[in-house]
Parts: sequence; C-alpha cells; structure tokens
Amino acid sequence: MECLFCKIVGGDIPAAKVFEDEAAIAFHDLHPQAPVHLLIVPRRHIASLAHMGGADEDKALLGRLLDAARRIAAQQGLAHGYRAVVNTGEDGGQTVSHLHLHLLGGRAMEWPPG
Ligand code: 5GP
Ligand code: ZN
Repeated sequence: MECLFCKIVGGDIPAAKVFEDEAAIAFHDLHPQAPVHLLIVPRRHIASLAHMGGADEDKALLGRLLDAARRIAAQQGLAHGYRAVVNTGEDGGQTVSHLHLHLLGGRAMEWPPG
C-alpha cells in the first residue's frame, strides 16, 4: 500500500486526528497554512475528485465530506468563516493522490488564490 493517506487512515502513520466517523477522518495538516488547517479524508481510497463517479454512493460520500467540514468548523470555533478547498489534479495543485478536503480558518483568507 503506497498511499500516504491510506496509511494514516489505517493507523500505520500517526496523525493528529480531530474527527472520525465511518466514512472519513480529519487531522491536522503537517504544514499548516492557517491557524486552523485540517484535512478531511475519506476512508475509501479515491485518487481525486475527478475520480469520483456519479453513483449515489459517491454523491453521498461527497455530501458527507462537506457536512463533516461544516461540523468540524463549528467544533473548532470558526464562527467568522473558513475556507473548504479540494485541490484536484496537476493544475489544481494536488500533491497527495487520495481525495481530501482542506479546511482552513482562524484568519481572513485572500482571493484570488495563487
Ligand atoms: P494537496 O497538496 O494534495 O492538496 O494537499 C496535501 C496536504 O497534505 C498538504 O497540505 C501537506 O502539507 C499535507 N501532508 C503531506 N504529508 C503529510 C503527512 O504525512 N501528514 C499530514 N498530517 N499532512 C501531510
Ligand atoms: Zn489512499
């Protein structure tokens, strides 16, 4: 098993977890880009958002990831807002090929992104 996030999901590589349910886990990013920078990762290996299908199961999982982001943001006290990002593929700046959602907060974000 080569995938870094599969290893974190499986407990082979430690991570600072803040949330888990049957579909996903969330943990602190190793190189935080904001005071709060969490990664929400499905337990199932899916290479990227572009690799999801349109099946009900896939759509439900995507919904669950966003719902987890909403719940974790509330738990982390991000009352002034936050950003949820899914970098996808080469142009999207994705560096780990296992679908994940970045939850960033604790400071005002800028737009446009780089
Ligand atoms: P991507 O660039 O694919 O959108 O995001 C991958 C993220 O994973 C990066 O923000 C990077 O800092 C984070 N990351 C890479 N390796 C590790 C690791 O071993 N542990 C944790 N917690 N985060 C990691
Ligand atoms: Zn994986």
